[in-house]
Amino acid sequence: MNSLSATIRNFKHASRILGLDSKLEQSLLIPLREIKVECTIPRDDGSLVSFIGFRVQHDNARGPMKGGIRYHHEVDPDEVNALAQLMTWKTAVVGLPYGGAKGGIGCTPKELSKSELERLTRVFTQKIHDVIGTQRDVPAPDMGTNSQTMAWILDEYSKFHGHSPAVVTGKPLDLGGSLGREAATGRGVVIATEELLADHGKSISGLKFVIQGLGNVGSWVAKLIHERGGKVIAVSDITGAVKNPDGIDIPSLIKHKVSTGTLNDFQGGDAMDPKELLVHECDVLIPCALGGVLNKHNAGNVKARYIIEAANHPCDPEADEIFADKGIIVLPDIYANAGGVTVSYFEWVQNIQGFMWTEETVNERLQMYMRNAFRHIKTKCQSHNCNLRMGAFTLGVDRVARATVLRGWEA
Ligand code: GLU
Repeated sequence: MNSLSATIRNFKHASRILGLDSKLEQSLLIPLREIKVECTIPRDDGSLVSFIGFRVQHDNARGPMKGGIRYHHEVDPDEVNALAQLMTWKTAVVGLPYGGAKGGIGCTPKELSKSELERLTRVFTQKIHDVIGTQRDVPAPDMGTNSQTMAWILDEYSKFHGHSPAVVTGKPLDLGGSLGREAATGRGVVIATEELLADHGKSISGLKFVIQGLGNVGSWVAKLIHERGGKVIAVSDITGAVKNPDGIDIPSLIKHKVSTGTLNDFQGGDAMDPKELLVHECDVLIPCALGGVLNKHNAGNVKARYIIEAANHPCDPEADEIFADKGIIVLPDIYANAGGVTVSYFEWVQNIQGFMWTEETVNERLQMYMRNAFRHIKTKCQSHNCNLRMGAFTLGVDRVARATVLRGWEA
């Protein structure tokens, strides 16, 4: 199922549970603004190449819109739309004073040189600079972008508007980035996992984990689970997959990947078919890569007891139904991966305060936000007698709906 249809389906289900007025439901669904821009740049050899950039600003009832910018060949308007909407519910679920947005450029960053990426980022910023801003819409890194991308956006934006460190988050530390931001999404995923397991009388230590994706999020998740005594028995990325029933030594796997650029030929495990990974026997499955990877074709074969959605919408609604029948518990993306945007919020606050927090303060407060959100989701699950996805959706949608009504949406 297409990511936008899946997101709308989950939203409508939550809206039905909450009994939202149909006009309000419609107004919450339609994005506030959708931007599509042409970005033409000279390649290093002097030839011209054009890309399409998007920014979807979904909702700002609770505060400035917030969300990442993705550079990936699969970026399309529906995908960006779905991700922008998910950001609106995500920021509301963790109680951040933000709305939701998402952006992206349809490109393959690995095929572009650093200077081509810089030119592309600057042209994109020139095209959107008048609709983003510290109190309007605050971009951040996502797939295919990083702190360097944010530094270029900050620099280009500041040429038009004066120095504005809080216009983007996920910046390098030297430009006002926050300690702990790099690890934040992965750390948040692990805190969320601990909360869920504790609720079931379990802990990470001794359980078997399978992780799909070893990018920024997957690497931190794997590392922190390994540190907490969890056994990571299989890992994959775009280059391949590795398994070891006794647990992979994650620090040496990450070292191997950094030095060779691939998971292949790793001595501490056996190669496996990446397609097998999602249906590998384990306690906890953590997809940390693309959306839609768990669907009606493979969901029936999943053997995990818990699925933690570190990626955005890795399980489509048809897979959700199969998991519900099999008694597999899914911890939804709009809560599980909210650690990144939470520490983005801390970065924005530090920039506005002009005062840096210590890494301990950042991590303590991240833990507090993630724990509180889990408690609030559970309360919704109890009052609406629903699963965790609907618990999170009803929490997020209810908060946004209330803010919208308070501001006087009918006027
Ligand atoms: N791209 C991340 C997400 O999908 C972080 C967004 C942000 O920090 O604004 O949640």
